[in-house]
Amino acid sequence: MAERIAVQDRIIAALQDQIREQDIRYRYACELSNRIPWMAAPNGDLMELPPLWTVLTGLSVEECLGNGWVAAVHSEDVEPLKEIWQQALSTGEDAQADFRLIMRNGDLRWFQVRVAPRKAEDGSIVRWYGTLEDAHDRRVAEEASKQSEAFALRVLESTTDHVVVMDRDWRITFMNAQATRFIHDRRHGKIGDVLWDIYPDYLGSDYEIHYRQALATGRPVRFETGMIDSDGWLDLNVCPTSDGLAVFFRDITEVKRASDALIEQAHRDELTGLANRALFNKALEEAFEHRAERDTSVLLLDLDLFKEVNDTLGHPVGDRLLRKVALRFQSAIGKRDVLARLGGDEFAVIHRPSADGRSVEALAERLMESFTECFFVDGIAIKLAASIGTAKSSPADTSSNDLFKAADIALYRAKEDGRGAIRAFDDGMAERLQARQTMKVDLDVALVLGELRLVYQPLLDIASGRIAGAEALVRWRHPTLGEISPGEFIPLAEDTGLIVEMGDWILRQACMQAALWPDDRTIAVNISPVQIRDETLPQRVLYALSNAGIAPSRLELEITESVLLNDSERNIAVLHALREAGVRIALDDFGTGFSSLSYLRSFPFDKLKLDRCFVGDIGGSPQSEAIIRAAGEMGRAMAMTTTAEGVETAEQLNWLRANGWSQAQGWHTGRPMEASAIRDLMNRRKGEPASAGENPDPCGR
Ligand code: C2E
Ligand code: MG
Ligand code: MG
Repeated sequence: MAERIAVQDRIIAALQDQIREQDIRYRYACELSNRIPWMAAPNGDLMELPPLWTVLTGLSVEECLGNGWVAAVHSEDVEPLKEIWQQALSTGEDAQADFRLIMRNGDLRWFQVRVAPRKAEDGSIVRWYGTLEDAHDRRVAEEASKQSEAFALRVLESTTDHVVVMDRDWRITFMNAQATRFIHDRRHGKIGDVLWDIYPDYLGSDYEIHYRQALATGRPVRFETGMIDSDGWLDLNVCPTSDGLAVFFRDITEVKRASDALIEQAHRDELTGLANRALFNKALEEAFEHRAERDTSVLLLDLDLFKEVNDTLGHPVGDRLLRKVALRFQSAIGKRDVLARLGGDEFAVIHRPSADGRSVEALAERLMESFTECFFVDGIAIKLAASIGTAKSSPADTSSNDLFKAADIALYRAKEDGRGAIRAFDDGMAERLQARQTMKVDLDVALVLGELRLVYQPLLDIASGRIAGAEALVRWRHPTLGEISPGEFIPLAEDTGLIVEMGDWILRQACMQAALWPDDRTIAVNISPVQIRDETLPQRVLYALSNAGIAPSRLELEITESVLLNDSERNIAVLHALREAGVRIALDDFGTGFSSLSYLRSFPFDKLKLDRCFVGDIGGSPQSEAIIRAAGEMGRAMAMTTTAEGVETAEQLNWLRANGWSQAQGWHTGRPMEASAIRDLMNRRKGEPASAGENPDPCGR
């Protein structure tokens, strides 16, 4: 018996050891685990909590048993938690909830509680086993993400963009209100729909291509494109997301229309509505690129005398005239031709031979015919003409600019050849232009190298038969080309601006020459319009006079009427300053150019020089004679000296004498001669032959 008791005691001791061991293991497990186990009776009364509870809450296990745990729960969470617990107790089902535990230091910390019943075989509940698990980090993260989601949502709703988010299967997971309106109103699309079910007609379009590109590359794609089902335009920004795409888009139809209109405007000449230079250049480049398929030609047109119309009739009339010219041109060109106004009175056509095979030459003729009839503006009949240069594309052209340049050279040539000329580009033209360029360079050094000199042509006082003075005429002996006429090189010097320096030299030379003549002889010097534009001209003239020591009254400056055409007010001021200094001003080449008598009113000229083309007609053309007579009478009425140029015969001189002209200049009265010869002539004593006619100088022309 005693033995059995000893055995039983051992077994009990062993079992107790085992239980103790399990208990220790359980406690260790509890302390090591991040889960806090607890146990409750079937009615919900808490029966057991581990010591960790006390560590966390600062509350003793004893005071928390039964319903005491409520004291450790944040007041806001007590009711929801109780409700869930009640629900579990009444249904006997598992439950879980998050709540905030009040920690020992007063902080709140999120925990998740889970509970499951242990049931007897009859289904009755024997125990409730539960755990508490720290859920703080998860809850804080969830809270933050909820907040940022709410923030993102607010942003997405407040943006003016339409926003659509879709997954990788093109299923729409989000649309902001803007996008909802856009997609739902047009296609009844909604969240959950597959994009291509809503927009089957957009499959294979720009849209699909760019969306797929964003998905494949993981990079945003931005593009503008037209809508397929309307003529609207969208600007889209497609951004890849972790599980699909977010598409931000906006309707830019209005913006696009406005910018298209601006571009169109930027490409139109406001005055005529024709293409402007920018559009012309673009069209020419395109035409040039396709030149292998079709010949391309360029025609450049420049209106002759347009400037004069503008200056005399005013800009509003000039503008209306340009519009009328544009209309006539428009009806002359072919359907495929591009007509542009490049600026001012310059027009251009890009011509591509059409089915009817009309050549560029024929087109040029047709354009020229636009000028056969007068233009009528405000009841005024205006006769215009144009110069036309044409060029056909050639295999040698390397860019559209070559073609344009060729046409420009041809136009330049046409203008040189006088009003109403049409010139087609040929290689010789380019060479001549090149020669001109070279001549410009040569002229630049001609003055320094002493290749320029002055010759002097006498002016005969018709009544007394004595030499009244002489006109200085510049000459250039080119080292290889020989004598070049001023008609050729003065325009070059005007182009380069060299005329100012050259003009100074001429003035000084001429004045110094006149200083060697008797005091009553005048010296005439031609002044280019370019020189007059320089407001320091009066000072330069006075310097030349004082340098030579001659009186201002002995100097006559010859200007042409073009001086009064352009920048006339400034030029007239310069002329007045000169006249006030005592210098005489002569109007040269009267009767040529635009010759409006109103010019004579705009400045009190001292002398009128009738162009030689009229004098040549004396004895042949009664009309010319009538003009010379009228000009002479007018000159006398305005107290001007009247000088006739180009007097080549005695008959002409007699006619001029009979008609009261004051002076004659021409080969009959004396050719242009070298300085020494004119000096001799001027200083000849009375009684010696006064006319230089019998004494032609070899340099005269
Ligand atoms: P312009 O001022 O009208 O000069 C008269 C031109 O007629 C001169 O030509 C002269 O040689 C020419 N001439 C004179 N008598 C007769 C004649 O009986 N028959 C014919 N057929 N011609 C005659 P040039 O020297 O060739 O000068 C031409 C133009 O060049 C001048 O016309 C003038 O506009 C300009 N020019 C000449 N020298 C100068 C100058 O030193 N400075 C400026 N700025 N221009 C000049
Ligand atoms: Mg002259
Ligand atoms: Mg003249």
